Amino acid sequence: MTTITLPRVPREMTVGGASVAVRLPLEAGAVAHRPHRDTLPAPIPGYPGRTVQAVYANCARDEDQCAEVTAAWADSRGAQACTEPACFPDAEPR
Ligand SMILES: [Zn+2]
Repeated sequence: MTTITLPRVPREMTVGGASVAVRLPLEAGAVAHRPHRDTLPAPIPGYPGRTVQAVYANCARDEDQCAEVTAAWADSRGAQACTEPACFPDAEPR
């Protein structure tokens, strides 16, 4: 098994309450992405036009939904920054 070491979430994101998108479980080695929000129709009978907000990884908008958590929380749980161009390409180890 190959272990890929990613940088930590950029420090400037962990102050001020910025949020990141993480596929659960949120644990050491989880990857924090830049969030991409999408509005989806909610199939609730009797509520036409009802929508829900879904959050995806900005680098993989058509893959599994993510949970949106604060960058500080993700960092404190050991999440690492995704370095794809759509997420945090400038993240550096710290
Ligand atoms: Zn990403």
